[in-house]
Formats: sequence, structure tokens, C-alpha cells
Amino acid sequence: MAISTKKTTAKPTNGSPKLKFNTGWEYAPAPESKGHIQLKDRYDLFIGGKFVKPSSGNYFDTINPATEEKIAEIAEANTADVDKAVKSARNAYEKWWKKMAPKERAKYIFRISRLIQERARELSVIESMDGGKAIRESRDIDIPLAANHFFYYAGWADKLEYAFPNRVPQSLGVAGQIIPWNFPLLMAAWKIAPALATGNTVVLKPAETTPLTALKLAEIIQESGLPEGVVNIITGFGNTGADLVYHNDVDKIAFTGSTEVGKIIQRAVAGTNKKVTLELGGKAANIIFDDAPLDQAVEGVINGIFFNQGHVCCAGSRLFVQESVYNKVLRKLKDRIETLIVGDPLDKNTDVGAINSKSQLETINKYIGIGKSEGAEMFQSSCPIPKKGFFCRPTLFTNVSQSHRIAQEEIFGPVLAIQTFRTDEEVIEKANNTPYGLSAGVWTDKGSKIFNLTTKMRAGVVWANTYNKFDPTSPFGGYKESGFGREGGVHGLGAYLKY
Ligand code: NDP
Repeated sequence: MAISTKKTTAKPTNGSPKLKFNTGWEYAPAPESKGHIQLKDRYDLFIGGKFVKPSSGNYFDTINPATEEKIAEIAEANTADVDKAVKSARNAYEKWWKKMAPKERAKYIFRISRLIQERARELSVIESMDGGKAIRESRDIDIPLAANHFFYYAGWADKLEYAFPNRVPQSLGVAGQIIPWNFPLLMAAWKIAPALATGNTVVLKPAETTPLTALKLAEIIQESGLPEGVVNIITGFGNTGADLVYHNDVDKIAFTGSTEVGKIIQRAVAGTNKKVTLELGGKAANIIFDDAPLDQAVEGVINGIFFNQGHVCCAGSRLFVQESVYNKVLRKLKDRIETLIVGDPLDKNTDVGAINSKSQLETINKYIGIGKSEGAEMFQSSCPIPKKGFFCRPTLFTNVSQSHRIAQEEIFGPVLAIQTFRTDEEVIEKANNTPYGLSAGVWTDKGSKIFNLTTKMRAGVVWANTYNKFDPTSPFGGYKESGFGREGGVHGLGAYLKY
């Protein structure tokens, strides 16, 4: 780090020195090396344990959203390829996977976890290149958590009767899994690990903008010696996902993505025997009471909305601050967002990386425009942003009312809508006034207040005095338009079993 000689404090105000940012500290670039990663120019479909050419003969580009440069060409699976992948998964299920002793299955899952750990550095660089997230996050959160998920579920493979006492848990068969672009490898792990531990085989479709780490996972799966066809990874667009959903030899659909597509999927499987879990959008309330440790709460709010550029289904995108501390919290928040470094995802100093795609940046900018036109007041960090690539400054909106679209709709970007409240009852009403119900956060010194709120808020996960804490042992999932079913923990096993 290069430290300049400029002063870092300004004149005291009200007896306490006010910090001035962007004047005293300059960070020298600290780019993560790309020298150790291995990427092919072109990736085929992973079916039956091999990389095979798509029957369409079509490929599409995956680009780096921070530079807009092409990274590789990716195969597009059509209906025939989806069918081939499902047949391969069915064959592997009947032939060996469902018959294999659970403790043997566990060995493969452990091996996948270990191989992810061994290749963590490579995977995190590729994740940041393909998706735009800051390397600090892919290195310290996404990739270790992905390995942990495999590790955790490997442990359950031979203990299912303890997870479901007095029952005879049985696998479902072939699981079709469709994942989004915000946590590409982690979502693949959330889906594949419990499916394998419970004796199912898998056809996974990653998102079109972030297929690379799933394809690297395919290489790891090959290296692990997992029997051919137990996991198949097929790339493509929305219609590839739709083909998987409609395939009549799929027993289970696990989907993470938008509420809009979730509804299409639910309609598609209605009247079939397919089991479904949907993990959809969110518009989480993060609530600060006046007795909360404010600095800690502000850190939690920053993490809640700017982690992964706000591309997080459980992002704390609505902030409710108790009126008596509103001015103080707002000042602290504005100061704090001025310190966030927006830029090159591969720089270890970067806090907020690139927006995942041009179309997502357009969506975010559209909502920023809507916020302004609805009369809310915008504050954006003054940080410089790169000229090339898709970037968005951390953004706050005040003077927001419950009916504003920026307070009701999922933006999926670094945009926070701030409102105030006076009483517990008022904030519970406001927090629950959303079509979503995935997550929430409460900041207070009082345990009783935490228990009061957590029992009254319709949200699948409520964090108290912390935010965005993920662990393979904890179930995750929503209410209302945030979907149904749980992933993670013992609950995550149930989604892949008849019992
Ligand atoms: P989608 O829901 O469209 O994408 C999620 C996954 O579903 C992708 O793999 C996608 O493929 C696939 N898919 C798309 N259409 C279908 C279909 N008809 N049947 C089956 N699978 C399908 O999300 P988007 O990427 O379009 O993002 C749009 C908005 O959704 C975001 O702005 C955000 O608000 C929200 N979102 C929420 C997420 C969450 O975790 N809650 C995650 C991602 C997005 P492909 O990538 O090829 O389109």
C-alpha cells in the first residue's frame, strides 16, 4: 500500500475529528496473477463423463464484464443434447449410483471437495474474470464455501437414516438443476452436493454469462473418478433450462434465479410427478434500532447491499433506521461508501467489482432513474470507475416511501433504499410489506427485541447483529415470491429424498 503524506483528519466537529476520505490513502494496485490459470478457448458439453460437441454445432462467447473481452466459447445445448444428458444421468443412476454403498458415494464427494480446495486459487480467479466479483470475495467466500458444501454433504451420505429417524429415505432419481450467475460455483455446489449425497444423479445448467467455473468443476469431477454420467453439465440459454424442466424423465427440478422464471417453472411442472424447489428473488429489510452498536450496524448494511455488487438474492436492499439515529446512521453510511473501491475485480483492494452483464447494468440504471423520477433522493459515492466494462457506483436513496418501486422490486445491484420508523410494530409492518420473504437483518442491543422481530417477520433467514453469514449446515430459502424448499443443512437433504 502506498501511503501519502496528506492528513487523514479534518477539523474537529462537535468535539470529534471527522474523517476525510480519498485524501490521505492511496492503494497501489494489487492485481491477482492470472498466470496460473488454465482455460481452453472452447468448452463443450459435459455429458457421460466426457466433453462432447453440441449437436447444434453452436457456440456462444462468455466475456469478462470488467473488460468486455471474450474469454472463451461455450457450447449451446439444444433439445437433443438435453435429452442425451438426461439419458446419461438416468443410465448412471440405474447402473451404479443408486446401488453404490453410501459410504462409497461419500468418498467421491469428499474427493471433489478436496480437489476444489487444491484448485481454489485458479477457481477464484476464473470466477472473478467470468462474473465480475471482487477477488477477495471469490477467494475468501465463494470457493471455500463451495468446497465446504461438498465436504459437509459427503458426511451425510451414509447417515441419512439418522437425518430422518424412523423413515426409509430413498433417492428420487435424476435431478435437473438450473443456476444463476451471481454465485456460479457456489450455486453449483449447493445443488450438486446434496443431490449426490442422497443418491441422485444430476444434469446441471449454469447461467449463460458465468459458465466457466461449472465447466472447471466438470474437469474436477472427471479427475475425481466419479462414475460417468453421475453429473452432467450442459451450457446454453434459457431454452436449454426450459428443455430440462420439460423433460419427462427428470424427477426433480432445483432452480435458483428470478421469480419470473420460477413462476414459469412452477406452471411447467404442475400436474407432473416432479419434485421442485425454487429459490427466487428477495427484497430484504435490514433494520437498525437506536440501541444498536451503530458502527457495527453500518458495516453490516454495507456488507448487506454491496457484497457481490448487490447481485445477491438475500441482499439487504431495504434499510429501516429508527428515527432518533437516522441522521447519524446516514452520515456514517455516506462516509463509509466513499471508502469503497470500485474497479478491477482481480485487484485485491477492490470492494465492489463489475456488474455481471451489460443487460444487468441497464436494469440497475433503469431502477436508479425510476428512483429519481419517483422523488427519492439519490446519493452516490464519488469514486472513479473504469471507462471500459460494466460498473456502477454504490448508491443510496433517501426520502423513499413504501410504494416506491425501488422499495418493492428486486434491483439486484448496489442500490440501497432507506426509510425510517419509530416503533417495533411499524417496522414489522413495513418490513413485511413486500411480495418477497427470503431474508432480513436486525441490529439491536436487546435480545428480546430480536426474538420479537424474528418471530414476526416473514423471511426464511433472519440475521441478528450480522448479515450475509452462510454456512453449509444452515438451511436457506424463502417464503412467498422468494420461493419454497430449503437448501443447506439437514433440510437440504430432504429436498432430494422420498421419506
Ligand atoms: P433468470 O431467472 O432468467 O436466470 C436464472 C437461470 O435460469 C439461468 O441459468 C437462466 O439461463 C435460466 N433460465 C432462463 N429462462 C429459463 C426458463 N424459461 N426455463 C428454465 N430456465 C431458464 O435470471 P436472469 O439472469 O435473467 O436475471 C434477471 C433478474 O432475475 C435479475 O435482474 C435479478 O433481479 C433476478 N435474479 C435473481 C437471482 C436470485 O438468486 N434470486 C439470481 C439471478 C437473477 P440463462 O442464463 O441462459 O438465461
